[in-house]
Amino acid sequence: MKELVIISGKGGTGKTLISASFISLMKDAIGADCDVDTPNLHLLLKPSVISEEKYYGPKVALLNKSKCTLCGKCMEEDLCRFHAIGKGEFPVFNSFYCRGCGVCIVICPEKAIDLVEREAGKIYTGKTEKNFIVYGQLEPAQLGSGKMVVQIKNKARNMALEKGLELVIIDSSAGLGCTVIASLSNCNCALIVTEPTLSAISDLLRIIELTEYFNIPSFICINKCGINQVNEKKIIDFAREKEIKIIEKIPFYKDFAINNTGEIPVISCPESELSQKIINTWKKMLSLI
Ligand code: SF4
Ligand code: SF4
Repeated sequence: MKELVIISGKGGTGKTLISASFISLMKDAIGADCDVDTPNLHLLLKPSVISEEKYYGPKVALLNKSKCTLCGKCMEEDLCRFHAIGKGEFPVFNSFYCRGCGVCIVICPEKAIDLVEREAGKIYTGKTEKNFIVYGQLEPAQLGSGKMVVQIKNKARNMALEKGLELVIIDSSAGLGCTVIASLSNCNCALIVTEPTLSAISDLLRIIELTEYFNIPSFICINKCGINQVNEKKIIDFAREKEIKIIEKIPFYKDFAINNTGEIPVISCPESELSQKIINTWKKMLSLI
């Protein structure tokens, strides 16, 4: 079983559309939406939810009032470096600020503070006509997005092994943070979807540092070709310098951008030029994984 991760560095390059298209083109594949802060693969693939489970983020401090003697030690200024403990009739623990470091627990003479798990979102398994997808939804302002990505990937991986499927396609979040690192870890291959804009090029250079660090074979797909030939050439030159294969150049289709209805082109209009380009990209990718 292999894992292909689709990354972009910059958001808005068309990464999720490519991921959704690849999943749609496969039979009996597993897709994993690892963009847990803003998941939208399911909006394109429209799965029926077949199971959901609670996701628990990092532990946070909780006061047991019956044990607290109001000694005030935990409320001393600068004790909590995350400013998660406020003053009130009893100490007030703010779960949004708490990082679960445990300092207040050590300082409390009455053992009146515990670290407890906090529900921070949900992980869903969905079924489309041909495939499965696993995706999560982190509640706003919750920590632990990298941990959620690991759980989503493990679930997708285990499903693939149970069902004897050969490929998991992972839609990573944009950026270079912990969710991207968690999405990349242990993957066999990465497809980087970029576009000829300065910000995308800047992020491309940085995300390639990550794939090199993890020693993951990478390929590039340039989306929205034609919007800036100078930038396009910069990407081509950079790919040559880094010896990274550009597997497809997908033109910018203005009509699609304007009339985008949230459908997946390879399903809604498979004969279109855009669909044919995506199908070609997929065929090339399959031969390289
Ligand atoms: S566990 Fe750490 S971060 Fe949380 S309230 Fe206690 S001292 Fe602050
Ligand atoms: S240190 Fe413990 S006993 Fe003292 S105020 Fe805080 S919770 Fe209460």
